[in-house]
Amino acid sequence: MPRKIIPKECGCGCGGMTKGGQFIPGHDSILLSSIVQRVGGLLKLKTIVEDHIEEEVSVVETNREKKKTKNNKDFTCPECGYEFKGGTWGGIDSHWKARHRHIMSYEEAWELIRKGKYVNKVRMRKNIGTIIKWGKAYAQDNTRK
Ligand SMILES: [Zn+2]
Ligand SMILES: [Zn+2]
Repeated sequence: MPRKIIPKECGCGCGGMTKGGQFIPGHDSILLSSIVQRVGGLLKLKTIVEDHIEEEVSVVETNREKKKTKNNKDFTCPECGYEFKGGTWGGIDSHWKARHRHIMSYEEAWELIRKGKYVNKVRMRKNIGTIIKWGKAYAQDNTRK
């Protein structure tokens, strides 16, 4: 059975209909270059997007770079910055048990580290401090009014 094609209006605003995709072939790049031109350059667009999502836009990594960052970055102890060699977490259990057992158990920590959710306590305390500062400033502003 042939797949049903549901035409959509082209996302670029030209009024044409696609064969089911978001854009008529080629119109996505036309739209992109129009946006870039409109905001005054690609870097400007990047800044606007970053302001909007409140996060840095990271360039899509090539596989080779991904491997590199994996080896350099991803296997670093989030608590002390110790680098695990060989691009794996090999040895984290004994490292954690020897150095950071007082923070939380290895099993707990590993669960978080594995998912990339481990938050360094010092960093977290700093963040909470900033939030409290904001809250206080906000409250003061409101009482003044
Ligand atoms: Zn179009
Ligand atoms: Zn460590």
